[in-house]
Amino acid sequence: MTTRPDYALALHGGAGPKPGRDYSEVERHLSDLICEGEAMLKAGHSAVDTVEHMVRELEVSGLYVAGRGSAQNAAGFVETDAAIMDGAAMKAGSIAAVRNLVNPISGARAVMDKTPHIMIAGEGADRFCAERGLETVKDPANWYRLPVGVEEVETKTDELAHGTVGAVAMDKSGRLAAATSTGGLFGKRAGRVGDTPIIGAGTWADSGVAVSCTGLGEYFMLANAAYDIAAQMKYAKCPLGAAASNTLNAIAQYGGDGGLIAIDAEGTIVAPYNSHGMKCASVKAGEPAKVSVFSPN
Ligand code: ASP
Repeated sequence: MTTRPDYALALHGGAGPKPGRDYSEVERHLSDLICEGEAMLKAGHSAVDTVEHMVRELEVSGLYVAGRGSAQNAAGFVETDAAIMDGAAMKAGSIAAVRNLVNPISGARAVMDKTPHIMIAGEGADRFCAERGLETVKDPANWYRLPVGVEEVETKTDELAHGTVGAVAMDKSGRLAAATSTGGLFGKRAGRVGDTPIIGAGTWADSGVAVSCTGLGEYFMLANAAYDIAAQMKYAKCPLGAAASNTLNAIAQYGGDGGLIAIDAEGTIVAPYNSHGMKCASVKAGEPAKVSVFSPN
């Protein structure tokens, strides 16, 4: 019987890295950020505050397909999706197809904390975020940038470049939380929403597990991937590692690929993927941090 670590944290920067491209800047960034997140958990911050902060940093870095590095849609502008879930409080918030928000994850947090709703989309979400005073992008042409590894905007639908960022954490009180934010797919149709903001598809946290997914969202929605893992654990008493690989196998059977990060109530961290790679980092109390892009974490 292993004892639960004091805290655990995992981050991802998307399951879309392409072999042969240079991700050293991403590795350096993830390695700094996981230390910052570990310091927050050590200092007693809650899991939900930690995952929100981690995702804010991932968003503003511009290194990933989220926040500043978001993908332009086919109509030539950026729409982002984000979700956050506090597993201890069983509360969730998400926003979808939102334009020009510097930190979409904080829009999702505001939906969770300040409204009776779980999801707000489109113009209604733009207006809500403006009312809450959330920072907007004033000069989109100079703010958005291509993330690391995306050399040009790829438009063939079967090879759409995509990416997402996410964080899952267990804090010192054993509370679990998950947060995910995405700029989606380059060249997606205006108004297309992926799995990321769908509670249970791309993002989930309860008292047993926190999950943040990345990959072609249409397949993660078909599998209801994040909750599929939680349900196997809750009803079939399946361990986290086996549950996560069952879900990724189902996604592969539907024709999709991608990966996920998850932490269970014992502080077990998994970061499996069936794509070429997944940018990820993890740490738990008493163990050194790990960062990887192309090898299992
Ligand atoms: N899941 C994201 C989406 O479909 C993309 C990704 O994770 O790469 O919007």
